[in-house]
Amino acid sequence: MIGPELKFKDQVVIVTGSSSGIGKACAIHFANQGAHVVVNYSSNAEEGQNTLDEILSNGGSGILVKADVSREEEVLAMFRETINKFGKLDVLVSNAGLQKDSPFLEMTLQQWQKVIDVNLTGMFLTCRAAARQFVSQVENATEPSHSELSIGKIILMSSVHDVIPWAGHVNYAASKGGIMMFMKSISQELAPHKIRVNSVSPGAIKTPINKEVWSDPNKYNDLLNLIPYKRIGTPQDVAKAVAWLASDDSDYVNGETLYIDGGMTLYPEFADNG
Ligand code: NAD
Repeated sequence: MIGPELKFKDQVVIVTGSSSGIGKACAIHFANQGAHVVVNYSSNAEEGQNTLDEILSNGGSGILVKADVSREEEVLAMFRETINKFGKLDVLVSNAGLQKDSPFLEMTLQQWQKVIDVNLTGMFLTCRAAARQFVSQVENATEPSHSELSIGKIILMSSVHDVIPWAGHVNYAASKGGIMMFMKSISQELAPHKIRVNSVSPGAIKTPINKEVWSDPNKYNDLLNLIPYKRIGTPQDVAKAVAWLASDDSDYVNGETLYIDGGMTLYPEFADNG
């Protein structure tokens, strides 16, 4: 429900891949804090509509936009539709991502390319469009702003696999490792424009992407061995961190990766003296 503290009142937020999982939780979280949210999906219109319906039934505001983040013309159309509807952009959460798992020896070029196209090129296309929009909003402003605060915020959805190697998932780990250097480089380049760029790196979060693990009791127990905090994360755990990075509370945070992983990156194998 829309809460008393509307941190994002009248801000416009695009969340890519918000028909499901973490993106859905982010879209609902921003809308509950007063944002106009662009709910993006690529193929499952019904799931996208479910996210939007939940936002609207909570009294929030949003639109549903179909776009494959790996296709330039569809990304540009999504940004055009956003500006036509709401007149501006404040926050991009570039979240859409997928896995096409395979042992390396058997991985096809198609499996490699699909993951790189969506997880990495999708970040390039959406972040470039957002950054251009933020800059043009300043250039076209009728009055100069006297605010010291950021003019636009970008949050990229990375993964603990931007630092933890992952056999059997090299396309995914390569895409997430790539996101880290992409994020830091554009953060360095865009900071003088007062655009902030940061990543969040979730550990194991209960969403459809890893249902095969959490729905099997044995695999679930094995997974808990990798998490010092001894619980799987929720999409809301990630959404709250994303919102903090998008808010003015984190205005001096730039080019950082925030790990939301219950300690998965703490080398849990060494907890018993290695
Ligand atoms: P999910 O499968 O529930 O959601 C993925 C979303 O991305 C869906 O809405 C899907 O429609 C969208 N998507 C896929 N391809 C797209 C495309 N070409 N264009 C636009 N949208 C597209 O999975 P999730 O766990 O919510 O994953 C969201 C992000 O979080 C991904 O980037 C994923 O790598 C990352 N992540 C998830 C976990 C986890 O444990 N669940 C951990 C680390 C990182």
